[in-house]
Amino acid sequence: MTELSVQGLPISAIAEEFGTPLYLYDGDVLTETYTTLRRLLHPALELYFSLKANPNVSVCAELVALGAGAEVSSDIELRTAASAGAGPESTIFLGPGKSDDELRACVDAGIRAIVVESESELLRLDRLVANRAPVDVLLRVNPSFTTKGSGLSMGGKPRQFGIDEEQVPAVVALADNLPGVRVRGLHAYMGTRFLDPADVVHNTSQILRMAEELHRECGVELNTVDVGGGLGVAYFDSEKDFDVEALASELNQVVAQFVAAHPDTRLIMELGRYLVARAGTYVVRVRDVKQSRGETFVIADGGTNHHMAAVGVGSYVKRNFPIRSLTRSDEAATEPCTITGPLCTPNDVVGKRVQLPPVAIGDLLGVERSGAYGPTASPVQFLSHGYPAEVLVRDGVAHLVRHRDTADDLLGRQLLIERQ
Ligand SMILES: *Cc1c(COP(=O)(O)O)cnc(C)c1O
Repeated sequence: MTELSVQGLPISAIAEEFGTPLYLYDGDVLTETYTTLRRLLHPALELYFSLKANPNVSVCAELVALGAGAEVSSDIELRTAASAGAGPESTIFLGPGKSDDELRACVDAGIRAIVVESESELLRLDRLVANRAPVDVLLRVNPSFTTKGSGLSMGGKPRQFGIDEEQVPAVVALADNLPGVRVRGLHAYMGTRFLDPADVVHNTSQILRMAEELHRECGVELNTVDVGGGLGVAYFDSEKDFDVEALASELNQVVAQFVAAHPDTRLIMELGRYLVARAGTYVVRVRDVKQSRGETFVIADGGTNHHMAAVGVGSYVKRNFPIRSLTRSDEAATEPCTITGPLCTPNDVVGKRVQLPPVAIGDLLGVERSGAYGPTASPVQFLSHGYPAEVLVRDGVAHLVRHRDTADDLLGRQLLIERQ
């Protein structure tokens, strides 16, 4: 019986110390992922971490310490990035429906740029800035071209995000007369989960071409062009991991060409999933094993309440995340098991007919590649189970980086109306 470990620490010891269910992050994988990308990609491309993918402050701090900027989309993410050490000069804020308070917080912090998503948002920001120095904004463009290869494509369609490419010249002209804002460049994001480097190269060159065209057409400043990102990781059997070497060899040429023509433009690539997914494992403990009409069910102490992505939303046939026995890693798979959690819904299936070694009550299972869009993108309050603990292993030491929710955390938010 061989146990799995992270940086030499047996996962069973970590689970013993911090309890389960648990999100476990390997700092070495974070470092390796970031530094490899940084080493391969053209130096003109600044890499920003999209906190949406994993807003844990310590995870963010690891990436910031390595040199990543921060791309945030809420007031709390803005504060998280600052706590994690991201300077305002390397923080951008984007997202639809920003509140006045969020815009004010960005202005007060003096962040590098606010990515404006509509004309009315630009006007609102201008009013909020009032008599202060103008703030730098990027206009998020909803491009007229379409994209392929993404699980969730963005361009060429009616969208709530950004300003349609056709409307950009009018908004740039409007901004020229607003004393509170200065348009410093453009932003476009074409979608998520790209697995083919050719698609990212295609999108990036289209975005850069669009930026040049808009610059020629309406004189929009190109101090900064944010080319989005959306690099994916393989989750399912049929998928292959994103090949960053292949990306670099093609993309760097595109970037070099653009930089030669626009030496003063700074380029940003935003990455969420790619930077964190492979560093995280969702660790659960088996509570029950049972048979039902010929199928083996393994019931764990955590399920889709912490890992909604494992349900496989959007795919017709259920596809499984990579799931391993952490307790018996070297034993051969015997029979397929369906792995479920503690929720009272048949949809609480983390893995269907997964090939695992024999599973016993008390074993630990790990859902791998789970460092992105985990608990924050899951119904953690369902059945009042609350948020799981998060642990980051760094330099061979396991650090608790988020407490699991306690009963007081959950019950303390509720108010019981007094009865006469
Ligand atoms: C979600 C999002 C990202 C991060 O996407 P990933 O696919 O996780 O890299 C980046 N930019 C924008 C605008 C987003 O909405």
